[in-house]
Amino acid sequence: MFEYIISLIAPYSCLKCGSEGPLICKICRHELPHPHKKLSADSALDALYTATTYDGAGREIIHALKFAHAKAASRVIAQVMHDRLPSSDFDWVTHVPTASSRVRARGYDQAALIACHFATMHADAYASLLRRQGQQRQLGQDKQVRQAQIRQAFYVPHPSLVQNKHILLIDDVITTGATIEAAAKVLRRAGAAKVDAYLFAMA
Ligand SMILES: [Zn+2]
Repeated sequence: MFEYIISLIAPYSCLKCGSEGPLICKICRHELPHPHKKLSADSALDALYTATTYDGAGREIIHALKFAHAKAASRVIAQVMHDRLPSSDFDWVTHVPTASSRVRARGYDQAALIACHFATMHADAYASLLRRQGQQRQLGQDKQVRQAQIRQAFYVPHPSLVQNKHILLIDDVITTGATIEAAAKVLRRAGAAKVDAYLFAMA
């Protein structure tokens, strides 16, 4: 609400060219790089889409999402993703839940904000299908422990919702892809027919 009032008094300016309006203006949106990431042969995903790269304006908008202007940033991010996804239908759009210690610190889950805006723009239904289990911190632990934690990070509280469904998983940034793979595997195990992923920025 507060952010909305602020945006009426002082509209945002484009993070790239500075023109007044949305956080990334329409012209700069079209100029964002559009990379493709290949699926690994043993992937649990049926398709993997990426909207842009994690640098330049793509990186700045992620920072805006995490540290300020969350609502305006999530809307622009969803818009770029919507512009760049070939038409396809999903039974559900869902998000990869952010570790809840971070959600508590920020007061919102940025991936959920993006997924909700995207679902509305893309005329799909949104549902929160995944939960995080445990609250282990990832920092400072060795690689094997971290990988085991990622594999066990998620569960599906209501498997009946996902059975035989085509699901689009949304997250803000992809680095190794381990998190999105873990989320996809859990959905598959719960009975999803197809799981695609769509990441805003590729690191
Ligand atoms: Zn611009």
